[in-house]
Amino acid sequence: MEGRVRILNDQPIRQDGRYVLYWMQMNRRVDANHALQHAIEVADELGVPVLCYEGLTCTYEYANDRIHTFMLEAVPETARRLAKRGIGYCFYPRRTRQEPNDRLYELAKHAAAVVSDDYPTFIARQHNASVPAKLDVTYRVVDSSCIVPMSQITKREYAAYTIRPKIHKLLPKFLCAAPDRSPRRKFEGPVPEWHVAVTPDSIAALVASCEIDHSVRPSISYTGGRQMAEKHLWLFVEKKLRRYAKERNEPSKHATSDLSPYLHFGNISSLEVALTVRGYATEHKLIADEFLEELIVRRELAFNYSRYVEDPHSFDAVPDWARKTMAKHAGDERDPLYTNEQMERAETYDPLWNATQRELLLRGKIHGYYRMYWGKKIMEWSAGYQQALDLMIYLHDRYALDGRDPNTYTNILWCFGLHDRPWIERPIFGMLRYMSGDGMKRKTDTKAYLQEIALLERTGKDPHRVE
Ligand SMILES: Cc1cc2nc3c(=O)[nH]c(=O)nc-3n(C[C@H](O)[C@H](O)[C@H](O)COP(=O)(O)OP(=O)(O)OC[C@H]3O[C@@H](n4cnc5c(N)ncnc54)[C@H](O)[C@@H]3O)c2cc1C
Repeated sequence: MEGRVRILNDQPIRQDGRYVLYWMQMNRRVDANHALQHAIEVADELGVPVLCYEGLTCTYEYANDRIHTFMLEAVPETARRLAKRGIGYCFYPRRTRQEPNDRLYELAKHAAAVVSDDYPTFIARQHNASVPAKLDVTYRVVDSSCIVPMSQITKREYAAYTIRPKIHKLLPKFLCAAPDRSPRRKFEGPVPEWHVAVTPDSIAALVASCEIDHSVRPSISYTGGRQMAEKHLWLFVEKKLRRYAKERNEPSKHATSDLSPYLHFGNISSLEVALTVRGYATEHKLIADEFLEELIVRRELAFNYSRYVEDPHSFDAVPDWARKTMAKHAGDERDPLYTNEQMERAETYDPLWNATQRELLLRGKIHGYYRMYWGKKIMEWSAGYQQALDLMIYLHDRYALDGRDPNTYTNILWCFGLHDRPWIERPIFGMLRYMSGDGMKRKTDTKAYLQEIALLERTGKDPHRVE
């Protein structure tokens, strides 16, 4: 657990607490979860059981059927796996704004300690800043999102090349299986009367009963939950890993893992993914370096960025050269110039870009290589850089299953020079890296991609969906 635990208030352990409360905010899984394991450690020391609390509120920005459904799909399996370990579980879907918003505080009153997830973006970042001061019991957060805990890289890193050697040096210590204990004392109840037992059959009605945006339909490609995360992982190692290095930038080859939604909601940890991939690669004499570079170095660079900057959604941390070049080119004529609505509806002159936006609308994720093109074109066609940044964040927050993640903001800002270097100067882009439709056509099979997205749109079904 070294380097993973932070204590966020000065309150004591409640000696007569009935349980240790684990508030599952971001890492919505039972296995390989260092925070849950820390809760178990503390509970065993005190001789009390563990109770896990998971909430789903209707009030987060752009709450909608897609995100709610994906999150709810994980709940039955979480409940099953916790029960198997003798851990109590209560799940609270706050359907309307009129319903109570204080379930955590209600449970914390009887807790010996409260443990949660250390996560540098979205609601968890806000909660971890505001909740600890309101509790009269110790509140700890545990980093189970990164392989090398965020605390081990003690300052903001400026690019992959600066963080890489540090991560590689620390990997032998941290790239090892998470503890896997069950608590000594079983939770015997009672669970609060507001707990809702979710079953696969009850999800659609539950989503329909929530005061959220019902116009964003569930993804046609991804089902949430632990089992689906494991299926994607095994499909990847067995069928795609050997092709990854060569084909990962070719969307029609489906050579990437599609794990980002599962990593974002913590249904699976990057640690488990890395260990599985490395183990399989060793056994089958494959090289997994390219994949592990993305999963570990690039992903943890994003967590490092989000942890150390004050506002991960702003231009504050882009390098000076990028800021200067944007200032110089702010007045360049944009032609064409599209409104946010035109871009949201995928109504530009460029069929390839429209297809990437449709992929986001339908699948809730864009292929990694085309996602760069998607971002760069939004920059080119928006009235200004700030409008472009705001639109990219809005589209991710609203439609992407892997949105609101450290990867979201870091990679969107990469389009504006973060973690990148200056390139040849040109209109609008200045010295920011440029991407063109012709380049995409030269390097990838755009025709196959256009056909694939057209089929999704026509049929409303994804033949690549993992069942
Ligand atoms: C404009 C833009 C926006 C992006 N928004 C997101 C986002 O909202 N959420 C998100 O997870 N990723 C985002 N990315 C990064 C990358 O595109 C996705 O992580 C990747 O496409 C996810 O698909 P996969 O799981 O099949 O990736 P794989 O290629 O199978 O990679 C495995 C994992 O490695 C990590 N990874 C891969 N590429 C990167 C990268 N460039 N930076 C950091 N980590 C990476 C991810 O966790 C990914 O799931 C964005 C990239 C761009 C250019």
